[in-house]
Amino acid sequence: MNKIYKVALISDERKIEIVEKTLPQPESNQVLVKIDSCAICTLEQRIFSGVMKRYPFAGGHEAAGIIVEVGKNVKNLKAGDKVATRMLTSCGQCYYCRNGHENQCVISYKADIHEGIGGPGGLAEYMMLDAKTLYRMADDLDLSHAALSEPLACCVHSINNANIELGNDVVVIGVGIMGAFHIQLAKMRGARVIACEVDEARLEVAEKMGADILVNSKEGNTIQKVKELTEGRGADVVFCTAALTQLAEDSIQMVGKVGRVVMYSSFHPDKPIELNVNSVHSKEMNITGAVNANTRDFLVATKLLSNKMIDPSLLISEVVAFENIEYAFERAIDPKTYRVVVKM
Ligand SMILES: [Zn+2]
Ligand SMILES: [Zn+2]
Repeated sequence: MNKIYKVALISDERKIEIVEKTLPQPESNQVLVKIDSCAICTLEQRIFSGVMKRYPFAGGHEAAGIIVEVGKNVKNLKAGDKVATRMLTSCGQCYYCRNGHENQCVISYKADIHEGIGGPGGLAEYMMLDAKTLYRMADDLDLSHAALSEPLACCVHSINNANIELGNDVVVIGVGIMGAFHIQLAKMRGARVIACEVDEARLEVAEKMGADILVNSKEGNTIQKVKELTEGRGADVVFCTAALTQLAEDSIQMVGKVGRVVMYSSFHPDKPIELNVNSVHSKEMNITGAVNANTRDFLVATKLLSNKMIDPSLLISEVVAFENIEYAFERAIDPKTYRVVVKM
């Protein structure tokens, strides 16, 4: 007799529905994973709160679990292994995939994990995944930490785009979970990190993550402050991790000559900003973005977590049981929380 398992769907604004599916058998390169933890990311929060109306949607792309069974062609994974999943699928055939930029794949997010249901589907008791999307984690790693591989991998990608050099002055704007990861990673790259944030509690988190200088953006002119801290030059690197276009403008103004600005955050609404092109020309400034993670970034993130080089425990605000998933979403959309992790 086939086993039944549960999948959570966002069925409408602020509504979660649980549906039941039949558990398939893994074939060839497939791996059956019993999901342990799945974090609720911004995409899921936007759909749940109604900012993006895409119903029904099987949310959850930050998942980790334990392998139950592998298909006959799977060689490097076995039952009992702890794994994190890279749910952003890449085709492996398009120009970008072949050029090492799987994060820019033209047909990403096509995965149909649970038969007949759209969405990454990590908020489920089980998932059937292709072996190439799974990354083995250390046996002693807390699986709620493993679930944060995806957001960490996106930040690894962003850090790589900024070419941080030893001793660089790096500004991180916004200390949400992404800003907090940027702080830790920039410190590992040998930077002096200046964290800018309006919320005092988040500035405390920034300090614990290793930020050297804390700037409360509500007190005085942040651009001026960054210039003072850098002998008038401006920063070598600025990461904008907050979704306000005004802050994107500020980021460009606080970077110095041959500096790099990374627009990490997505912007909704995507309001145009003022930009003096001549300053880009004369300062030789580099303005770029960072979206998602490629396979290499993901591997790096899983190693950093497995080897306990990055400790994300402060960034998990609450772990909530699957039975209380609606409450988990309500908590996740509260701007005061970092990640809320659903425990299956
Ligand atoms: Zn995410
Ligand atoms: Zn592709």
